[in-house]
Amino acid sequence: MITTDNSNSVLVVEDSKIYERIIQNHLRSWGFQVTLAGDGEEAWEILQLPNSPRLVIMDWVMPKMDGVELCRRIRRLPSPFPYTYTLILTAKDSQADLLKAMDAGVDDFLAKPFDELELKARLFAGKRIIDLQNHLLAARESLRHAASHDSLTGLMNRREIMDSLQREMARAKRERTPLSIALVDIDHFKSVNDEMGHLFGDEVLKEVGKRFQAKLRLYDFVGRYGGEEFLLICPGCDWTSAHVRMDAIRESVCSAPMSAMGKYRKVTTSIGIATWDQTDELNVNVLLNRADHALYEAKRNGRNRVHQAPNPSHFEFSNLALSTVGAV
Ligand code: GH3
Ligand code: MG
Ligand code: MG
Ligand code: MG
Repeated sequence: MITTDNSNSVLVVEDSKIYERIIQNHLRSWGFQVTLAGDGEEAWEILQLPNSPRLVIMDWVMPKMDGVELCRRIRRLPSPFPYTYTLILTAKDSQADLLKAMDAGVDDFLAKPFDELELKARLFAGKRIIDLQNHLLAARESLRHAASHDSLTGLMNRREIMDSLQREMARAKRERTPLSIALVDIDHFKSVNDEMGHLFGDEVLKEVGKRFQAKLRLYDFVGRYGGEEFLLICPGCDWTSAHVRMDAIRESVCSAPMSAMGKYRKVTTSIGIATWDQTDELNVNVLLNRADHALYEAKRNGRNRVHQAPNPSHFEFSNLALSTVGAV
């Protein structure tokens, strides 16, 4: 991910040590952080790095790769790269040179020897564009987050966790690895609301989400599936470890009471697990249905417990065992 906290950084691409020092001194006195490159090739490598400067002052004539070629390459960068503002500072000063530079995608052009105040004015014009872009990228990111996350718990919302499930099932199929999911439902949550108030209930939902996250691995997923129901996705997790891990999650919720607004209450959860071990072809809905039935069984058997949906491979095993017994 390319972040956008780089609005005070300038990359100076210059092969003349004298010009490099002059430009660097000016930029520092104007409050910029300066990164230096001695030719276009070095600059090109720096620009590929995450969070590299998006404001570039470049010479034209340099060894290895000149400024105009560098600019052409910058303009061909694919879309995840933010816009790079380029100012070419060159001894070339004809109109034909200017047109050639503009044609390569240079944003601004200043002839050497340059006037420092003119460079400053042009640089700040470029900085305004980069600042504007950074604001737009940040706004887009926060919209994206709002559209994919639940505003109360901060977890993925239903659509996002379902998309993750689709992706993880496709990956599990490709890599022939197991995948476990769990539907977690808070027990008697209506009573929690009735006894403690709806705001306390909201705090419980947030705290339950945090306790899940504390127990999950970096590559697991958790989302708010419905009101007081959550969906957990554990890639690579087989039948046995799914049970162990989900029981630890259940335990982490019920072991210490929820506390909010000076009040305390114990809360428990029921968990339905379904594991896909590749022995049958299935889709997202079938897997979710299995987890849902298992959750129903956990509720029916008394709540605050984990129930695991049987796998087709386990059916085959038990049928085999039965028929063996029958043959004897
Ligand atoms: P069970 O053990 O069978 O799951 O019982 P339950 O009371 O948890 O189930 P039920 O489906 O009857 O009630 C769920 C409650 O969850 C009802 C609803 O008001 C509450 N709820 C859903 N979303 C929110 C929310 O965002 N905040 C709060 N405070 N309560 C919510
Ligand atoms: Mg030069
Ligand atoms: Mg429910
Ligand atoms: Mg419930």
